[in-house]
Amino acid sequence: MKYYSLNNNAKSVSFREAVIQGLAPDRGLYFPENITPLPQEFITNIDQYSNEEIAFEAIKQFVGNEIPSEVLQQIVTETINFDFPVVSLEKNIGTLELFHGPTLAFKDVGARFMARCLGYFNAQNPNKVTVLVATSGDTGGAVANGFLGVNGVDVVILYPSGKVSEIQEKQLTTLGKNITALEVNGVFDDCQDMVKSAFLDNEISRQLTSANSINVARWLPQMFYYFFAYKQLYKQHPKIVFSVPSGNFGNICAGIMAQKLGLPIQHFVAATNVNDTVPQFLKKGNYEPKPSKTTISNAMDVGNPSNFIRIQKLFNHSLEDLKTSFSSFSFSDELTKDAMQRIYKKSNYIADPHGAVGYLGLETYGLRDSEFGVFLETAHPVKFLDVVEKTLAENISIPKNIQAIMSKEKKAIEITTYEELKSFLNS
Ligand SMILES: *Cc1c(COP(=O)(O)O)cnc(C)c1O
Repeated sequence: MKYYSLNNNAKSVSFREAVIQGLAPDRGLYFPENITPLPQEFITNIDQYSNEEIAFEAIKQFVGNEIPSEVLQQIVTETINFDFPVVSLEKNIGTLELFHGPTLAFKDVGARFMARCLGYFNAQNPNKVTVLVATSGDTGGAVANGFLGVNGVDVVILYPSGKVSEIQEKQLTTLGKNITALEVNGVFDDCQDMVKSAFLDNEISRQLTSANSINVARWLPQMFYYFFAYKQLYKQHPKIVFSVPSGNFGNICAGIMAQKLGLPIQHFVAATNVNDTVPQFLKKGNYEPKPSKTTISNAMDVGNPSNFIRIQKLFNHSLEDLKTSFSSFSFSDELTKDAMQRIYKKSNYIADPHGAVGYLGLETYGLRDSEFGVFLETAHPVKFLDVVEKTLAENISIPKNIQAIMSKEKKAIEITTYEELKSFLNS
């Protein structure tokens, strides 16, 4: 499959090059040249297929012949070797739990898929690729875990000292092997600035790549979630409305790709916290990125969602078309906490702040009689322990795999300046 840059000023590249480069040289996001719907027969009988078969069907055209079928099948199988259950909460509402992966974050799927693709492409290359990421929390853990032990790839993660939760810090700093954590004396924006400087610095001798959802190999496998949910529900509930807690809009954009592949999805709701650039765009018609505001659903604190351009492309930049299958609403922290309490009271279910924002999205959308609403639970509530325990006045038990990590020794290199990052990367 060929990918072109949405800035239209760079040449089209193969899947391999798109994965290795991340962003196109003209700073545009890569987008597939063709999207071919899957056979109707496949969709109609989707409950006859295993998750591995479904994921392989969904992704194979986007890889093309660049990875042999058997290898791609293996990659897919390793990527999704955990559960994706839809848990029913109310008569017409369920939640798709995406937190059963190794770091309890939905980003595990994208990170694991990307890691294996990059590992495959770089296996013959004597020069290692270095994945450089800044994280405010979840991304770093998922990337570190996904790339752990992958040949030909080193991972360097920058995180702000004292600004990530204890669990998140342990997930970043206890793995060893090809994963190095750099603890930055500063805030997330400082980490991000350093990473950006490194990408633009010709004096860095390593081949650098990024691992956020601008990378097609992290973005596209997120389509799987929607197929898996549909498979569980469609016989009983053919009209599904997905509400997706959104920050960079990579996840929901992958859902729209699934719809393009022929998956009958009734409607999408992009639910945001007070970082409301997209809801405002739908209301007013002009897109005005803003600096991000801090919230309790901090993985969605994004003022200029990078994947929104892909969503616009999928609707040929027509606001009218977009609005027919896509709504977007914004919610304050107060409303989010209130929703967490109401969900707990009504269904005895502990939602994390991101999932609660998704729930609010369904409420505001207003489900019709025949519709079934699914909000995505993008992280395990234990990852936001402080907020969840305070809001619900309950103790949450910590899953076994997390308990194991908590007793491991933290290893991180402290840095303060860009020069220190540079000398680390060149050492
Ligand atoms: C990253 C993240 C999101 C936002 O996903 P996008 O694809 O960036 O919209 C939502 N919830 C959690 C828990 C996340 O880690």
